[in-house]
Amino acid sequence: MNDGVGDGAVDGSAAGALSIQGSQRLVIKIGSALLADDDGNLQTEWIDALAADAAELQRAGTEILIVSSGAIAVGRRILGLARGPRNRALRLEESQAAAATGQVRLAHAWQGALARYDVSVAQILLTIEDTENRRRYLNARSTIATLLKLGVIPVINENDTVATEEIRFGDNDRLAARVAQMVSADTCVILSDIDGLYTADPAHDTGATHIAEVHAITPEIEAMAGATSNEDGSGGMVTKIEAARIALQAGCRLAIGDGRIGRPLKAFAAGATCTWFVPQGEPQTARKRWIAASLNPIGTIVVDAGAAKALAAGKSLLPAGMIRVEGTFERGDPVIVRDDRGLEVARGLIAYSSSDAGRISGLKSSETEAVLGYRGREELIHRDDLVLS
Ligand code: GLU
Repeated sequence: MNDGVGDGAVDGSAAGALSIQGSQRLVIKIGSALLADDDGNLQTEWIDALAADAAELQRAGTEILIVSSGAIAVGRRILGLARGPRNRALRLEESQAAAATGQVRLAHAWQGALARYDVSVAQILLTIEDTENRRRYLNARSTIATLLKLGVIPVINENDTVATEEIRFGDNDRLAARVAQMVSADTCVILSDIDGLYTADPAHDTGATHIAEVHAITPEIEAMAGATSNEDGSGGMVTKIEAARIALQAGCRLAIGDGRIGRPLKAFAAGATCTWFVPQGEPQTARKRWIAASLNPIGTIVVDAGAAKALAAGKSLLPAGMIRVEGTFERGDPVIVRDDRGLEVARGLIAYSSSDAGRISGLKSSETEAVLGYRGREELIHRDDLVLS
């Protein structure tokens, strides 16, 4: 075993860290094979059981997001595209049509299952661009944050109808990890048809052993993923490892486990076998490191002494504290915050374009709507999007 792989023993301190219990924000990714049978019929009993688990975790204080596959599997049956060999590859436009049709059924199933626990759902369909373009990323992030605050469970899928081959995730494993990163989730669970990662393919190699804990995605881990076959969805183990890589960078722990067991989330909380990928830092730290290091600031906000002091105390930057704007930028772009002596105070992602920021400079948050003609965010830079220099 190399350094990246634990020996499977989970000591007392790690046990707390390696559980979905106590998670503050949990992304649950569910593969198509769990949601629909071979003929594309929705597995309503399974969905009901998962909804019971999700509602229970939510009651215990965990915010839940569900990344649900299955739209294409369900839609192709409804459209009569399932005939012939079951897994005949659909043409792109056929799978997009199937996704559009199946998504309605899927969302309806989740809505019905969670309504029994008085939990509302919201459908969110994302493309890669929504997770990479900063402006759209910020919009999606704050919409999801608002839904979570209101106790709603977002049910998320790729927007397959508009995502063409070259620009799509194609698998919901990486989408789930991107969502986890976007909302700074601390835990992501990928429910699959295998209970995690093995040293070799357990279906063909009796010497294959289960890996309980991974701390880094090494070439050795990648090779194991290549050897582990599973039938679930379009991803297989390779995209699950890619998802784990994204999650680890985002400071989010990620588990891959078998969702076919009854009440799977409950079972994982009780310690059912799965593979945990364990990050070095916390989600907020990872996000801030990302803002501080990898972004190239393209504008400057000059603030007064009071605002500089408030930022140092961990507050958000409000329009009232701004003296002027320098440079040209869009909403979501990275900017530097300087004080009136020119000293760098912080860096962050700004919630307004340079022209709009200029117009509301020095105004109280309650006065900005009249000037802009729309109701923008209260903060010019939210503290979650801000790193002190
Ligand atoms: N977005 C696809 C669907 O809902 C699933 C992708 C995957 O299998 O991971 O059908």
